[in-house]
Amino acid sequence: MSTSLTIEDYPSPNFDAREAGTPIDMLVIHYTGMPSGEEALARLTDIEWEVSAHYIIAEDGRVLRLVAEEHRAWHAGVSYWRGHRNINARSIGIELVNPGHEFGYRPFPEAQMRALEILATDILSRYPIPPRNVVGHSDIAPTRKNDPGELFDWRSLAGKGIGHWPERATHGPDNIMDALSFIGYDIQDYALAVATFQRHFRPMEVHGVTDPDTQCWLQGTVELCERAEG
Ligand SMILES: [Zn+2]
Repeated sequence: MSTSLTIEDYPSPNFDAREAGTPIDMLVIHYTGMPSGEEALARLTDIEWEVSAHYIIAEDGRVLRLVAEEHRAWHAGVSYWRGHRNINARSIGIELVNPGHEFGYRPFPEAQMRALEILATDILSRYPIPPRNVVGHSDIAPTRKNDPGELFDWRSLAGKGIGHWPERATHGPDNIMDALSFIGYDIQDYALAVATFQRHFRPMEVHGVTDPDTQCWLQGTVELCERAEG
């Protein structure tokens, strides 16, 4: 299978300077959430909308670079992860074309995921991004966002060295709020934080209720983060 990727430049005006001294230590995955890829591309390059990402990957695997990595793209919005709020400043953002929950959410095709794997592997080789900082938009903005959603295969990606995947623990954490917070979540809305955790780590059932199975996955994720460095 191919391990190289052709990246086409399709510049967006929607970026500004990264702050000096802030490391790039996060990778944020999105879906476009618009009826078509063309509409998403138009919005991500429209100066009026003030949104962008570094890359967008079409369903056929075609990759466009909208913003150079050294610039700050505008993909995260109001966000939080592990104590940090200006996630745009410290991240690379990748958009996957998918209509999303609003316009007909559907599986991410093989070609698209394969392109993402190659692109993400390359990005992770160039920045100090720990596995626990490879996140979805929903992880960092649980009150506003559902992307990339429960059809996104984090487990398979982790198997390829992108992000991490826990083993299910045999018991739950001592304190669920502390566990979610330790992983990195903003816990101001408890049920949304739980649902967001489920969407990423227990995607079979996303309902925001801390059932025993969710608690075991939560504890497994805490243990995974404890073992990790960074
Ligand atoms: Zn998003």
